Formats: sequence, C-alpha cells, structure tokens
Amino acid sequence: MAASSAAMDGVAAAALRSVLQRVHQAAERAGRVPDRIKVVAVSKTKPVSLIRQVYDAGHRHFGENYVQELVEKAPQLPEDIQWHFIGHLQSNKVKPLLAGVPNLAMVESVDDEKIANRLDRIVADIGRKRLKILVQVNTSGEESKAGVEPSGCVELAKHVNQACPNLEFCGLMTIGMPDYTSTPENFKTLANCRTEVCKALGIPEDQCELSMGMSGDFEQAIEMGSTNVRIGSTIFGAREYAKK
Ligand SMILES: *Cc1c(COP(=O)(O)O)cnc(C)c1O
Repeated sequence: MAASSAAMDGVAAAALRSVLQRVHQAAERAGRVPDRIKVVAVSKTKPVSLIRQVYDAGHRHFGENYVQELVEKAPQLPEDIQWHFIGHLQSNKVKPLLAGVPNLAMVESVDDEKIANRLDRIVADIGRKRLKILVQVNTSGEESKAGVEPSGCVELAKHVNQACPNLEFCGLMTIGMPDYTSTPENFKTLANCRTEVCKALGIPEDQCELSMGMSGDFEQAIEMGSTNVRIGSTIFGAREYAKK
C-alpha cells in the first residue's frame, strides 16, 4: 500500500477513536449508558480501502445511502460488517439491495407502506433472516420527500410491526432539515414520535431506537436521546463529489 494512503487510513482510524470518545463523554454527561449508543460510520463516496481500515480498527456498523454503491462495496469487505441502508429507497432497488448485500443489518429509511411491503416480500422471497427497520420521519416541518410526517409515524410503525412479518420494527430515524443540519426541535420531534409509537404498539421506549445526529450535531443528539448516530465526514474526511 502506498505511504500516502496508509497515512490517510491512519487518520480515519484515529478519527474513529476520537468520535467514540466523544460519544462516550456525551453519553456520560446525559447520564446514559455509552455502550447502548451505536455509531454508524457513514462511508458513502469513500473507497473500500478506507472502510477496511476503520473495520480493522474494530468498527462493524457502516452506512451507505446509494444502493448501487453499497452493492459494489459490500462483497469486497468482510461479511461481519453490519450495513445500514440510510438513503431514499425505490421499490425497484429493493431486490438488488437485499440480494446483493446478505449482511444488510438494517434499513433506516422506510417512509411509506409501499416500500415496507416490498421489503417484506423480498425478504421472504430470498429467504434471508428478518430485516431490521427504522421508520424515517420528516421532522423539518418543510415540504420534503424524506420521511413520513410526524402525524403519520404511528400508522406506518404499526403497519411494519403488524403487517410485515419479515420485518422487525426497531425505531425511528430523522435527517433533520433538508440541508442535512438538525435543530433541537428536530430531535425533540423524533423523541415525541417515539413516545406515541411506543404507546400505540405497547413497547417500552428503551426498545425503540432513535437514529438522529450526524457529524455536526451528534453530541447534542445523544444528550436528547439518540441511540444511533450516523457519522460520515468526521470519521472519513470531507466528501468529494467532483471528479478527481
Ligand atoms: C451522509 C449522511 C450522514 C452523515 O453525514 P456527515 O455530516 O458526513 O456525518 C448521515 N445520515 C445520512 C442519511 C446521510 O446521508
């Protein structure tokens, strides 16, 4: 491996350790159990070699938001990675996603019944184990395709829980504002949704995850109850979308 890339990889591993430490400290400040907060390392646009280094540093939860990118990367990486799909999912991509990524651990971005039904059916068709699901909620109060309205979260969670036997409803996710920043109101809205969903489904709140918080705001999200933070650029470095 080239020296420059080895140096870069070292940076990602060090960044991971620093993030884990900050997660730990935020949890302690909030009087929460640090081990119950999951860090999903969001590796979109990043090369397999860099993901591998973070894996070698001991990390196992990774997130991607494009089906094609995940389907290309997953087979090049160890099978015990727990992949989280965190992007907008189209019906016609469900089959390639599930068939191409046997170690897909969770889909965090279920935002309507149609996509839930499709996931449920394809899980059965390919005979994989039950798939963990989060319901994505639009907490921005703005017109946006990302997520169900807070007023619809109970109905969708119920649907996944009761009508999709091959899916396991695990909680709620939000991105925050359309520009991918979050406000305390976004986190509060998601926590309120959890209260309603848990009441409606008769499950304890500590069994319902809250996926909220990204590089810029994960500590605040943890203080407001997040159980699953999705961190990309702080671990892997800024994303470069332009051609090199
Ligand atoms: C890219 C992405 C993240 C990570 O964003 P960073 O600001 O780089 O940490 C988190 N969640 C989703 C849904 C994303 O698409």
